[in-house]
Amino acid sequence: MDINLLQNKKVSIIGAVRSGVAVAALLKSHGADVFVSDSATANKLQIFIPNLQAENIDYEVGKHSERVYKCELMVISPGVPSNAPVVLEAQKRNIKVVSELEVGSWFCRAPMVAITGSNGKTTTTTLTGRILSDAAKKHVVAGNIGTAFSSVVLGLAETDIAVLEVSSFQLDHIDKFRPTISVLLNITPDHMDRYDHSMEKYAASKARVFKNQLADDVLIYNIDDDWTNKIILQAQCRKIGLSVHQKLTSGAFVEDGKLVTSICGTRTEIIDIDQIFIKGTHNLYNSMAAALVGQLLGVDKNRIQSTLKTFKGVEHRLEFVRTINNVSYYNDSKATNVDSVWYALQSFKEPIVLFLGGRDKGNDYSRLSELVRKQVKTIVAIGESANLVEKSFNGATVIKKASSMEEAVDMARFLAQPGDVVLLSPACSSFDWFKNYEHRGEVFKQLVNKL
Ligand code: ADP
Repeated sequence: MDINLLQNKKVSIIGAVRSGVAVAALLKSHGADVFVSDSATANKLQIFIPNLQAENIDYEVGKHSERVYKCELMVISPGVPSNAPVVLEAQKRNIKVVSELEVGSWFCRAPMVAITGSNGKTTTTTLTGRILSDAAKKHVVAGNIGTAFSSVVLGLAETDIAVLEVSSFQLDHIDKFRPTISVLLNITPDHMDRYDHSMEKYAASKARVFKNQLADDVLIYNIDDDWTNKIILQAQCRKIGLSVHQKLTSGAFVEDGKLVTSICGTRTEIIDIDQIFIKGTHNLYNSMAAALVGQLLGVDKNRIQSTLKTFKGVEHRLEFVRTINNVSYYNDSKATNVDSVWYALQSFKEPIVLFLGGRDKGNDYSRLSELVRKQVKTIVAIGESANLVEKSFNGATVIKKASSMEEAVDMARFLAQPGDVVLLSPACSSFDWFKNYEHRGEVFKQLVNKL
């Protein structure tokens, strides 16, 4: 979109949280006539409303009124699902709907690195940012990761880099968004309730990350992942793989215990995988992807190595909390789907007391059955879906139900023996008992720290 055409254009923005406010301000500063609408209550949005007022932006909260459709363009914030009624209604009325990511990209002069996948986005995006900052390369980290892309995009020069964490909801509404490097970490069931329980639809959404990429652009993708392998056939750009199972002529792989990359025929041994601080096969994929991005952007192998040795991961992702009586407690509250729990279980050799449950997103737990039988001595079923968890794992292991996190932690203290692991890795969202996954993780950590 030519940003000069924004002058006097009527734009409605859905979502009055961080990104919505930022994109409204960005569009307004380029002459658009903006209106922000959020169905959440004024009370819930109280910290953002003063920003709208300060920018003199028209808004409504607690509803989406008829006014929201009196526009030529609708912009949706990252948290708004593609099947939200307001989005569907706008599409029915032939209003063009785009995501905040798309709008940000209209203003972006710097090359963009877009990182997506069902799991590992935040870890890989943060790690990529760390590699660039340790190498003193000017960049911003933005997107679904705390900083709205729209709030930082104007500060980027052509020689800088935008590292973006990108969700499927944002990709559903791109038009011209074209990253220089895209990363597709994996495609496993998540948000199935938002994609008509269709993996085809969900995978097609992820595939949009490379839909505008041209021959000079690069797609980094996980060769070991079935759905990813299937959809990348459509990509028109250069493709570089990630694999922990096979050696690749182009990509990152494991050889003799080392993370090795091969780019344009140049082979580089980056690091002994034992020296990578973040553990587990899933984090090996994340490290490979970030190392490749670093190398493609000109970061020296030794610098990438030192970052991989020191990067400690991100809070609430398989985060070590404490050891008491030789029982180790881990907070993996961000494990909000089945596949992330699969990788969490894979990361331990010890017997596990597993906290599972919350608000179910249409989970199929069968993928976990074998690992649960082998490794999980007890499941403590928590949250709204405790009964479903109990039914799904009936006969696979011992199952106890807890009616609060406090009760769950108390139970775990009695159930775990020296040498065991207590793991909160719930496979569900947190909105039944908590404000969000951070809140769930904090409560868990506080209770564990009190033991
Ligand atoms: P996202 O931003 O995609 O949700 P995170 O980095 O926040 O990803 O991690 C979310 C959950 O998925 C955590 O439980 C984490 O341990 C797990 N995880 C991280 N990377 C991967 C990966 N590459 N594959 C599978 N699970 C992963």
